[in-house]
Amino acid sequence: MLVNMKEMLADAEKHNYAIGSLNTPNLETLRAVIGAAEELGCPIIINHAQGHEPVVALEVIAPLMKLYAENAKVPVAMHIDHGLDIDFCMRAVRAGFTSIMCDRSAYPLEENIALTKAFVDLVRPLGITVEAELGAMPNNMPSCVPGQEQSDLSDLTKYFTRVEEAEKFARATGVEVLAISIGTVHGMYTEKSNLDIQRIKDIKKAVEGTGTYLGIHGCSGTEPDQVVAAINAGIRKINYFTAMDTGITPAIQQMIDGYEGRPLNYSLMVNVAMEELKKGAKQALELFMTCKKSW
Ligand SMILES: [Zn+2]
Repeated sequence: MLVNMKEMLADAEKHNYAIGSLNTPNLETLRAVIGAAEELGCPIIINHAQGHEPVVALEVIAPLMKLYAENAKVPVAMHIDHGLDIDFCMRAVRAGFTSIMCDRSAYPLEENIALTKAFVDLVRPLGITVEAELGAMPNNMPSCVPGQEQSDLSDLTKYFTRVEEAEKFARATGVEVLAISIGTVHGMYTEKSNLDIQRIKDIKKAVEGTGTYLGIHGCSGTEPDQVVAAINAGIRKINYFTAMDTGITPAIQQMIDGYEGRPLNYSLMVNVAMEELKKGAKQALELFMTCKKSW
């Protein structure tokens, strides 16, 4: 069923787990992600990022996302990932997205607050939930987020979200999710991750009572025990894509090798890719529910 993020976040908070927020820039990924959530019986957030526009336009993928969300056996939020300007975000409103990330993290704090608050005021009467970002996350792949090229990763702490700014932001905007920077990196992170778990705890405490839940992006390549620690510290939404999207390559390569130069149908390759995507999605969603409490 198609919903916004509000109730699923409340349930995740109550039972100590995180909702997977997975990008679905084509039909196969969409079917794989929804299928994985249905098999595990967990709520899911499906994303279309502004960065996917060169692959597929919002107006093309949105009706498919909506159809699969409405028919799913689990709650599904149809979400915009990194909506970087108002025109794109309004296209998402018109296309029926139930949740939108209004990412103004490239702006100074006061401007980020003002632009985000104006957007919240605009879409809240429509029942649309909003995510914002504070402490612009670094990238280790060019074009993870349009306009934000490969970042200097020598010192991740310079990107970290400040506790007092997070509190100010949450109180001023009332966003449902605040994406914070605590050591994860957009794209596939190949170094050993070192998340600032204490910072999550401090920010969670600081935003208590605001109705804002905390999210992280860029968990591809993050050690599983670090992800679990982040959830235990209060992370309730986790964006995940690159590891799943690149993880299909060995299976496709094996299939190509097995055909030894004979004609190979693209439609068969797509099915193999879909199965691999589903495996990747399930693995991530299971990890995000590792510490789920049953009460
Ligand atoms: Zn992101």
